[in-house]
Amino acid sequence: MRFVIPMKKINKQQLRSFFEKILSEVFVDRYNCLVCDKELQEPSDYGLCRDCLGKLEFLDDRICKKCGRLQINEADYCLTCQNHRRDFDFARSCVAYDDNAKEIVRGLKFGSKKYYAKYVSYFLSRRFEECFGDISVDAVVPVPLTKQRLRERGYNQAYVIAEKFAERLDLPLRSDLVVKVRQNLEQAKLSGKEREENVVGAYSVALPQEVAGKRLLIIDDVLTTGSTLGEIAAILKKAKASAVYALTFAGTRYRVDGEKLESDEVKS
Ligand SMILES: [Zn+2]
Ligand SMILES: [Zn+2]
Repeated sequence: MRFVIPMKKINKQQLRSFFEKILSEVFVDRYNCLVCDKELQEPSDYGLCRDCLGKLEFLDDRICKKCGRLQINEADYCLTCQNHRRDFDFARSCVAYDDNAKEIVRGLKFGSKKYYAKYVSYFLSRRFEECFGDISVDAVVPVPLTKQRLRERGYNQAYVIAEKFAERLDLPLRSDLVVKVRQNLEQAKLSGKEREENVVGAYSVALPQEVAGKRLLIIDDVLTTGSTLGEIAAILKKAKASAVYALTFAGTRYRVDGEKLESDEVKS
């Protein structure tokens, strides 16, 4: 059988607009800053112009050693981690969840800008190299969405970040290990205590036999109080994972006022 391209049916104009569309999908966005949308004067692995990159607060070692959020004092652990059980071994974020970081997360999560994942994964790979040293992980696990939320959004932002991150570091991506079985209330509207209760029973380990003995790295876009990551770590540990770490793009600043958080934060 011969494969014939029906050239006669496509006129030149249609062909041109078709290729222009492809080119704009592939190239144009890459050269515009993710935050201010200005054309980039130089290539950036972060996808940001100098101004917007300069406004991000990169986290260093002034963080809670457990949850990785920016610390407000010299203590090793934030009050939440001092007073609560945290089942992840430790969590780390790349930047503080300030305005520019929020803009990136919003674009990725609610603005259908899936291609942001490439840049976000670059932040993650840098932070991973900084914080994980000799620690090796067996698999990268994105925080899952329920099937309904996945249909509404079209893709899982944690998955697309984890996918690019795993590619960069040549690590196995396992999105089949954990599933979200119940849609909980929006975490953003809840206080710290309520958030903890809200996530209990929302996730389930799908393949416990493949979790046992493994060192797993959970990936998400934002760590707020750490309840979601704590709950997923808890069920993975229950399934006998030997270690569970978490890495997110942004981490909220630790707040002392009962961890009430801004309403535009996370809807996962
Ligand atoms: Zn910019
Ligand atoms: Zn902490």
